Amino acid sequence: MRIGLGYDLHRLVRGRPLFLGGVEIPWEKGLLGHSDGDALVHALIDALLGASGEGDIGACFPDTDPAFRGIRSLELLRRVMARLRKKRFRVVNVDAVVAAEAPKLGPYFAAMKKTLAPLLGVSGRAVGLKAKTNEGTGLIGRGGAIACWAVVLLEEKG
Ligand code: MG
Repeated sequence: MRIGLGYDLHRLVRGRPLFLGGVEIPWEKGLLGHSDGDALVHALIDALLGASGEGDIGACFPDTDPAFRGIRSLELLRRVMARLRKKRFRVVNVDAVVAAEAPKLGPYFAAMKKTLAPLLGVSGRAVGLKAKTNEGTGLIGRGGAIACWAVVLLEEKG
């Protein structure tokens, strides 16, 4: 068994679609980033890479590389999972926390699980998602950013 931890934060700005957990959420602002800015998927990717000893998302998909400009983060996750499967890892479960003042994310968790679970090769019950506000404090509390933490458990197939 191998455990991994990932964290990511992206700024929320006007004029961008909001992608979180692979799902587009109707909102007045979206996450700024070289890719689609999906901080939840990025935190998951870093947790997966950390658990498998593969470094981090910045090393695997440099934001200086035009090939990754505007890329859907789900595509990056797909590539990371292919790499893990090649190393004979399987995901046992993942768990994540999203800190966002708005919008309310609970109504989108079912869609996120439905999107992420098949990519991770697990059932929806093995994908934990929780939303917290930042109690109005700091950049996140002012609606200027969204932060995500994710842990994953991998099993190495014998
Ligand atoms: Mg990121």
